[in-house]
This record gives sequence, C-alpha cells and structure tokens, in this order.
Amino acid sequence: MKEKSDQIIELVKKSKRILITSHIDPDGDSIGSQLALKGWLDNLAKEVRIINWGKIPSRYLFLDDKRSIEDLDSPAVKTWDADMVFVLECPNLERIGKVRELIREGDKIVNLDHHPDNSAFGDLNCIDTEASALGEIIYELLIYAGYKLNKKVATQLYSAILTDTGRFRFSNTTPKSLKICADLISRGANPKEINNQIYYNNSEPALRLLGFVLQNLEVLEDGKVSFMVINQKNLKDFKVPVEDIEGFVDYSLFLKGVEVGALFKQKDKTLIKVSLRSQSSFDVASLARIFGGGGHRNAAGCSLNHDLNSAKKLILKNIKEQI
Ligand code: 5GP
Repeated sequence: MKEKSDQIIELVKKSKRILITSHIDPDGDSIGSQLALKGWLDNLAKEVRIINWGKIPSRYLFLDDKRSIEDLDSPAVKTWDADMVFVLECPNLERIGKVRELIREGDKIVNLDHHPDNSAFGDLNCIDTEASALGEIIYELLIYAGYKLNKKVATQLYSAILTDTGRFRFSNTTPKSLKICADLISRGANPKEINNQIYYNNSEPALRLLGFVLQNLEVLEDGKVSFMVINQKNLKDFKVPVEDIEGFVDYSLFLKGVEVGALFKQKDKTLIKVSLRSQSSFDVASLARIFGGGGHRNAAGCSLNHDLNSAKKLILKNIKEQI
C-alpha cells in the first residue's frame, strides 16, 4: 500500500486537472470515497471534478453539501479536459458508463478498488480485496499523504464503510474496519447523525413503496429464496425516483431461513437491474458474472437486456440450479 500510495501521490503532484468517477448508480461507498478524495485534492489546489453516471440517492446528499458531484450532461463537463482520472470501485472501464467519453488518450488512470474481479485496467492499480469498503483504502491513502481529516471527510469515509459493511453486519467487517471507524469518530464522524441521515430519513412515498414491495415479496424453494420486483409503473405510481430505492434489496434477506435474495428493478422496458444478496455460502458474484455483472460473494449485481419476466426466469432458474 505504501509503494502504491507513493506512486499515486507522485502522479497527483504532476497533474493539474483531476477527474474522479465511479460506477453507474453510485452507492454510499463510492459517494463517500469520491468526496473524501476530492477533499484531499482540493486541499492540494488541484482542479477537481467528480462526475458520475446516474443520480445520487437523496439519502447521501448530506455528504455533498456543496453539490460537487456533477452530472455528465452539464455543458461545463462536456468541454472539460482532465489529465488524470481516479476510477473508484469499478472492475473495468465499462462500469463508469458514459463518463468514459471524458477520458482521453494520455490521461493517467488510477484504479482504486476492493472488488475481487477487478481487471487492473489502470496505469496504476491499487486493489485491496481485504478492505471492507473502498473508504478504507481512501482513508489509508489520505492518512499516508498527511492530509488532516476534518469532520466532513471523516463523515464521508465513515458513511462509505458503514454502508458497504451493511452497518458492520456483513462478513467483510474486520477489526481494521472498526479501528478505522473508531478513528473517524474521534475526528468528528457522528454515528447517530450518520445513521439517521442514511437509514432513518426515508420520504413517505419511498416508505410506502417499500411496504407495497414487501407485500408482494415472492418466496420460493421452501423459503430459501425471496425476491422483490419494482417496475416502472410502481415508481411512477408512488412518485419515487429510481435512485431512492437503493437499499430495498436488503429486505429480501429479512426472512427467516432465506439464503438468497434478489431485487429486480425495471429501468426501462428491456433493461432490468438485478441486485443479488446471500446469507449463506451461495456465491451471488459468480451468478452475476454469468450475466456480465459482478460484485462480492454475498452482494452482487448485473443488468439484463430483457423484459422483466424473462429476466426473472433467467436469474431464478440459475439460483434454483445452484441452491
Ligand atoms: P447493488 O446490487 O447494490 O447495485 O451492488 C452490489 C455489489 O455488486 C456492489 O459491490 C456493486 O459494485 C456490484 N455490482 C452491481 N451491479 C454490477 C454490475 O453490473 N457489474 C459489476 N461488475 N458489479 C456490479
């Protein structure tokens, strides 16, 4: 890590304009990590932009008080030319979606990730599959670089680790992740405030949609598989933006005895995002990989160019064969 950090710091020194990006449909880890990284780079007086493909779920907006995460469609972004790019939490460059159009030949790419299926696509690759969240890697980099983490950055990194460990519940929670979080608390991160912002701050429509989705939860294989479906009509009827259903999939594992849970989210008629979760040794990452996706053993996802019914059939057939 030290050697990699030295190389990153060296590259940052030589760069003027730095793009930070992450995967489509950013989550708590990618948002917190990107913002913390920007804090460090801003402090070094670099020109820095965070550009993501996909909207920020409203539960994470408190992390970005200056609204510095930009949309790919803004005109200022289209003409901007970075000389260095940080790509966070992506196994390959396809995962950043259209942000890829902003990367030009000669731009130095730093690839930071904690997923096991990373293809090491960067000029510099810093991949630590032992890290519970990318937030841990960013924490170590910033501390090593001598950046003084203030309350804001501590909050961003704490949120990254909190969300990617499922509130310190998943098996990726380690003594190290807890030690880092303890240090972040001592630097001003407030666990109660952060938990309230992320988990106890639902809009009424989102909560009612969750109720509807749970009412229609489907259970198969003697209770070992449970899955939920959200189609475009549901989102429209309940007036909930698609990014605000991030986290719903967790409820698929609330059932006693369940081993695999899934959420089928209809993004458009023939594009279905599937989120997969498991309790047991069932490896949802290898299931997701069959369909061009990826992730971790107990939390993974993929997107299928199918209508809702065929996407369900395909995924459930594969789950049934393996369970
Ligand atoms: P979620 O289901 O919450 O979107 O994602 C769960 C995990 O799977 C995360 O680590 C996420 O990065 C990964 N993941 C989700 N969708 C995809 C995908 O389409 N491709 C890859 N490679 N990873 C994904």
